[in-house]
Amino acid sequence: MATLTRASTVRPIFNYIGGEWVASSGTRSLPVEDPATGEVIRHVPLSTAADVDRAVGAAQNAFPGWRETPPVERARILFRLKGLLEQHLDDLAENLTREHGKAVAESRGEIRRGIENVEHACGIPTLMMGTTLEDVAPGVDCETIRQPLGVFAGITPYNFPVMIPMWFWPYAVATGNTFVLKPSEQDPLTHQRIVELAGEAGLPPGVLNVVHGDRDVVSALIEHPDVAGISSVGSSDVARSIYAKAAASGKRVQAFGGAKNHMVVFPDADYDYVTEAVVSSVFGSTGQRCLAGSVVVGIGEAYAPIRERIVDRASALRLGSGLDSDVDMGPLISEKHANRVREFIDQGAAEGAKLLLDGRGASVKAYPRGHWVGPTVFDEVRPDMTIGREEIFGPVVGFTQARSLDDALAMIHASRYGNATSIFTSSGRTAREFRYRAGISMIGVNIGVAAPMAFFPFGGSRGSFYGDLKAQGHDAIEFYTDKRVVISRW
Ligand code: NAD
Repeated sequence: MATLTRASTVRPIFNYIGGEWVASSGTRSLPVEDPATGEVIRHVPLSTAADVDRAVGAAQNAFPGWRETPPVERARILFRLKGLLEQHLDDLAENLTREHGKAVAESRGEIRRGIENVEHACGIPTLMMGTTLEDVAPGVDCETIRQPLGVFAGITPYNFPVMIPMWFWPYAVATGNTFVLKPSEQDPLTHQRIVELAGEAGLPPGVLNVVHGDRDVVSALIEHPDVAGISSVGSSDVARSIYAKAAASGKRVQAFGGAKNHMVVFPDADYDYVTEAVVSSVFGSTGQRCLAGSVVVGIGEAYAPIRERIVDRASALRLGSGLDSDVDMGPLISEKHANRVREFIDQGAAEGAKLLLDGRGASVKAYPRGHWVGPTVFDEVRPDMTIGREEIFGPVVGFTQARSLDDALAMIHASRYGNATSIFTSSGRTAREFRYRAGISMIGVNIGVAAPMAFFPFGGSRGSFYGDLKAQGHDAIEFYTDKRVVISRW
């Protein structure tokens, strides 16, 4: 995407620092597009290290007062935010679809998942409690208390621009920290409104700040001495690099990466149910989900009937603007990404996989400038092919056959990724064996998208996650607090 100067007539958006909307000190910006129409909606500034310093300074200044705010009062602010988010859900969903492209129902689902994290963080007075043991020695008591660490930063991807920031900052601020968010530069608009609503809910100035930009902002956050920790989500190479650099600069870090998720279908599964679950996993959000299924492993005689059903069902999916009714699949985020997905399809065909359904030529009459790739299905995909190995992040699925659970597990174990996997079977014994041996962090048993709810940890392993504490659940409380131990004798 070409960077632009400020001369354009499309308005730039602002950073949010110390409770105020302020212009970036940078001179460059990027267009934010409606991916269905190709229309430029706003410009996002590429902020500078000076902007980061200003935001971290505001967060640092807000920290002492916010830390002393009783957890129950912090929770009340989040509770008010939950109400405001629900009240504005329809508008937020429409805005999200306009900048991301996903169908409005998917946008609503995403926002709902974000709200659930706010709800969970509202339990902070209980979640943040420590532990005590009397008489660890005669007359000596020992307790742990959880304390916030200061300023945390979040770096988030384009595919869930509302929900993923809310895996992080509601927990960080609930535990008494302050936060600087660097949203995706591709679709940063809807979260601007959420930050505004957080202010309306009573979040004091400086507790939550936003600095827009690209990797330069990320570097400045990683290098800033007053940032205590980093939560980041993105592709695996970026995750690994952020993890290494943030750790080298002495910070806490959790870095979520990409995925290649296998879905294993046994002959004793209900094929109609599997078809719906697989189609929704692979093609939902146009394949731009870290939990999207991307390789279907058919065991023995399950292979052919599942493949036929899925090709049939996928060919009937309707492409269009996520804002229109009767649309199953929206556009991809950008023409650059659509070209990347088309190149993967070219490569799959060149490497010998059989193309059963080809989405490269897809178009939507009403939206000639949209970033369209239609549902794509490959047969005879091998794990060593590029499309069998790499994350495509588009509406593309590959079929591969296995003779047994052992064969399927070998394919899963050969992948560099370890985010999610699913098994479809009516045998409890097979399912148990699968979950015992899969070695993958999020496992669906007769579930196509194994998405943990807010009160469970979310995150992968191997090349899909660098760190130890995941997002959401109790891990979030652990990540954003330090356990301090007090031993007392009176
Ligand atoms: P991306 O890696 O391009 O960008 C993610 C964030 O990192 C953005 O804020 C971006 O500005 C920043 N960034 C990009 N390049 C950077 C660099 N070289 N150095 C420092 N920062 C950099 O990812 P994306 O395209 O926005 O999102 C899609 C990716 O995110 C997919 O790989 C997807 O699997 C992954 N993802 C993972 C999870 C998970 O839970 N594991 C969830 C959602 C998305």
